[in-house]
Amino acid sequence: MFDWLVVGAGFAGAVLAERLASQRGEKVLVIDRRDHIGGNAFDEYDAAGVLMHRYGPHIFHTNSEQVFRHLSQFTAWRAYQHRVLAKVQDGKLVPMPINRTTVNRLYDLSFTTEEEVENFFQARAEPASPVRTSEDVVVGRVGRELYETFFRGYTRKQWGLDPSELDKSVTSRVPTRADDDDRYFTDSFQFMPRDGYTEMFRKMLDHPNITVMTGTDYAEVKDRHPHRRLIWTGPVDEFFGFRFGKLPYRSLRFDHQTLEQEWFQPVGTLNYPAEDVPYTRITEYKYLTGQVHPKTTITREYPAAEGDPYYPIPRPENAALYKQYEALADATPDTWFVGRLATYRYYNMDQVVAQALSTFRRIEDAVPSVKAA
Ligand code: FAD
Ligand code: UDP
Repeated sequence: MFDWLVVGAGFAGAVLAERLASQRGEKVLVIDRRDHIGGNAFDEYDAAGVLMHRYGPHIFHTNSEQVFRHLSQFTAWRAYQHRVLAKVQDGKLVPMPINRTTVNRLYDLSFTTEEEVENFFQARAEPASPVRTSEDVVVGRVGRELYETFFRGYTRKQWGLDPSELDKSVTSRVPTRADDDDRYFTDSFQFMPRDGYTEMFRKMLDHPNITVMTGTDYAEVKDRHPHRRLIWTGPVDEFFGFRFGKLPYRSLRFDHQTLEQEWFQPVGTLNYPAEDVPYTRITEYKYLTGQVHPKTTITREYPAAEGDPYYPIPRPENAALYKQYEALADATPDTWFVGRLATYRYYNMDQVVAQALSTFRRIEDAVPSVKAA
């Protein structure tokens, strides 16, 4: 008899399994239908020996000292600040997020102050009121031309929707800057796990109270392995048999390639905002991992309607459908729903860790531990 069945061995499942096992002394069975732990953050050495990410590039960044400290129990870190260039008209490479260098290079200008750049944006901005969509956010800040150069095509490819059909939260993830900071993120903690994500997960799950079964679907074990309580980190609509209809998720196809050359591109990620290029970005892992190797591995991301559910799609009608599932989830006894798919939120890794840690605190308040009982 297990105290807990944890469905999914990604960040949500692994963080909770470790807490339940180590802090409450409870017996935990962790399953994942994939043949590995780590969820979408899974990394591995490919046939050439290059460390790469099977489900696309994962860069850890957070402003939460609590999250950073928590994960630091299971990994050492390598400082890494991600930089992205966008390939625009005539093959020009310019910094993304848009900054002073982007504007100068694109328009052959030589602005040196933030004020000049802010004036440039303000002269073009077409503010909307209220700001509702992903188009409103960008057009309202930098105007239509820069919006079309960097956001419209990329977003239409990535989501299969026009930015005007997507919640403002999507393009709000990417700031616009008037200075020359060319980092993709500005969080106070920006690191990669020194020995990779999978190794960090292995350490997290390496506890005598935890049993891990990969290649195992919930449907196969739910009756076979008795358990008192359940943590669900898969898609919430799947748990309830799609009772209210399918929640839309966006998928990707990853094209991984190892090249017989040391380097492929000048930075970790090149974005391709043009709509006639079928992929959105190319990432070269050695920038992220710091690995020294005579070959290099890159991944192209091709957005897709069908396939594994990677992105919840933030728009009002989907939020309304999720609310119906959330009400069912709240009314399901002895079951906790955690993570990007189970709570239908476009969360980064650190946000999922924070959500798992706060779920653990709720469990502590609500459920007497086996040790105490
Ligand atoms: P997941 O990692 O999806 O784990 C859920 C697991 O549950 C899966 O392994 C699945 O196989 C398993 N599962 C589902 N249903 C069942 C079932 N019925 N039975 C058994 N197992 C089941 N975040 C960042 O912070 N930085 C980044 O740079 C970044 N880049 C990203 C790039 C891409 C292309 C994508 C898709 C995401 C990226 N993210 C990034 C987000 C990050 O992947 C997620 O925040 C995080 O991995 C979510 O963890 P999770 O545990 O909620 O879900
Ligand atoms: N985006 C864009 N052009 C870019 C980068 C991002 O239009 O060059 C938009 C796009 O809609 C994307 C969103 O901003 O889905 C969020 O970008 P982010 O890089 O955070 O996406 P993720 O890494 O989560 O795929």
